[in-house]
Amino acid sequence: KNIQIAIDGPAGAGKSTIAKIVAEALGFTYIDTGAMYRAVTYKAMQQNIHLDDEAKLAEMLEVSTIELKPSPQGQLVFLDGHNVSAEIRSNEVTSSVSQVAAHAKVRELLVAQQQKLAANGGVVMDGRDIATHVLKDAELKIFMSATVEERARRRLIDNQKRGIDSSLEKLQEEIALRDKKDSEREASPLIQAEDAIFLDTTALSIDDAAQAILKLAEE
Ligand code: C5P
Repeated sequence: KNIQIAIDGPAGAGKSTIAKIVAEALGFTYIDTGAMYRAVTYKAMQQNIHLDDEAKLAEMLEVSTIELKPSPQGQLVFLDGHNVSAEIRSNEVTSSVSQVAAHAKVRELLVAQQQKLAANGGVVMDGRDIATHVLKDAELKIFMSATVEERARRRLIDNQKRGIDSSLEKLQEEIALRDKKDSEREASPLIQAEDAIFLDTTALSIDDAAQAILKLAEE
């Protein structure tokens, strides 16, 4: 049966890795909304648009196309037809994305696109405001978290795989700061929806977490 599954939570909780597995197992579409905010941030930096200039950012976004395409190497992100999957994961983009994501106009435009993407068939969408704003009627809502130490450790391994230089201490700081910005912003802050199920992945393997969600999806 085609349902909508919303997965929200702070940075590095395992959302995208686990969402991808769940989507694959169910034959659903996976939508990584963080990648969309990252693509906007990347383009703004490329074009030297001030990241506090909400009007300019919205103007830029209106003439941009962001596409998410599944591939054997994972989801690819295309910005105006170019594959920017690696670029949007850089330290520069990562440390600036929350600033861009705080603008209501940017969110409005991306949320509309996300809702369109979710309109046909089963979908697993991960982000910060999926259960509270984007897919309020999702049949299954998960709020995924883990200790900041564990999340930093996972990001370190992830970055190593991507060839990005980082230290555990720096990552922990970066993650904590990004969570703070995402939770304290005015426009759809990161918060657990009342009807979401809390899933602590600190001590769970990727597979165990995916199985837990699949079991809930069956109910
Ligand atoms: O999930 P990921 O770490 O790629 O998200 C990057 C950033 O995008 C988040 O830190 C947040 O600022 C923003 N974001 C958001 N709303 C979403 C998804 C991501 O504000 N639904």
